[in-house]
Amino acid sequence: MLNDEFDRDHLWHPYTSTHDPLPTYKVDHAEGAVITLDDGRQLIDGMSSWWCVIHGYNHPVLNKAIVDQSRKMSHVMFGGLTHQPAIDLGKLLLDILPPSMNRIFFADSGSVATEVAMKMAVQAQNDPKRTNFATIRSGYHGDTWNAMSVCDPVTGMHGAFGPALPVRFFAEAPECGFHDEWDPEDFGPMQKLLEEHGDTVAAVILEPIVQGAGGMRFYHPQYLRELRKKCDELGILLIFDEIATGFGRTGKLFAWEHAGVEPDIMLIGKALTGGYMTFSAVATSEKVADMISASEAGCIMHGPTFMGNPLACAVALASTRLLLQSPWQKRISEIEAILKEELAPAADLPFVKEVRVLGGIGVIELHEYITWLREFQKMCVEEGVWIRPFAHNAYLMPPYLAVSDEQVRLLARKLIKILKKIHNYQEPGLVFNI
Ligand SMILES: *Cc1c(COP(=O)(O)O)cnc(C)c1O
Repeated sequence: MLNDEFDRDHLWHPYTSTHDPLPTYKVDHAEGAVITLDDGRQLIDGMSSWWCVIHGYNHPVLNKAIVDQSRKMSHVMFGGLTHQPAIDLGKLLLDILPPSMNRIFFADSGSVATEVAMKMAVQAQNDPKRTNFATIRSGYHGDTWNAMSVCDPVTGMHGAFGPALPVRFFAEAPECGFHDEWDPEDFGPMQKLLEEHGDTVAAVILEPIVQGAGGMRFYHPQYLRELRKKCDELGILLIFDEIATGFGRTGKLFAWEHAGVEPDIMLIGKALTGGYMTFSAVATSEKVADMISASEAGCIMHGPTFMGNPLACAVALASTRLLLQSPWQKRISEIEAILKEELAPAADLPFVKEVRVLGGIGVIELHEYITWLREFQKMCVEEGVWIRPFAHNAYLMPPYLAVSDEQVRLLARKLIKILKKIHNYQEPGLVFNI
């Protein structure tokens, strides 16, 4: 059903005006890689519901994990109490996170994880002169206050909040693509920034290898190696936000592995629970944990109500085990090959700036800023796919452990078909006789 009246008149949806909201499509249920609307229409999911539903919807193993845990307890406070799902999940995560990671903070969402990581960095530095942050343009770290402050100042929400936000240091985003030859000048802007302002910087925060919601950009692993060196030299902590890149999406279990560079603090979220619950985690090295405990407060000053929620821990444990037992690496490289093949023809279209693919991510970057989302979504639903572009990017991030080859091909073909329709594009050589 299109635009249920109550929904339109009373419910806020993300990034749309209450005056003339974008239409919403009512979902009845979802199974595997298919979302079924209230009116029975079926859509192949190209978004993994904002990148978290990696195993597909309504997965029996994940359903069972939630139900079983709910029979024991859905929640207990983490202050003074603990439980097996938190312990088991912690053990499993330490096995797969960078080797230096040794302490885990279970938080409630990606944005909160960013807040916690930034608080950790300031507390660990324990120096009133070292309280600021540096990052790169085109990043995205969430919608809460400090998270917003390190999002790209143009594509992020700095415009709406302006002087209300703390002012951070931004270096130009890396230009050297993931597959390009490394150009040492690419690190120049960050090097200059850190050499000038490094003594006021507690940490550099960025998404390793793939910048997601800030621009869907893939950059060169050498950038991270240079950054690690510079941070060590200047006593700056390094925070990797792997909320979007984690759990296999880029072809490695976590994106830091592309560069072999370990952060001091690492954030995970999104696919952590396979899309079942809001949940995230902040991991740190023992060194950073020691610095925090030696600071004036003596402990990390954060403790949310739903910290370490047992339902979330149980389903995260089940989801991560399921991922590790699956042939995820093989599946991602198969999907990568299909996306490359199917999206390649789009590179020649006049309205397309660039096509790029890495792991389970396929991006068609357009010349123009997208202003036709309403029309686009309507066509998606008519074509039986669910894709939601933003800014200059129309992209696919399908639920990689649930989609079939055929579904990936269909997603790519329908995406190109819809983009052509939107742009009234006629195949050259097709002449219509009237
Ligand atoms: C989605 C995302 C966040 C924010 O996570 P929420 O759960 O939406 O708060 C932070 N960082 C990155 C890289 C993300 O992709």
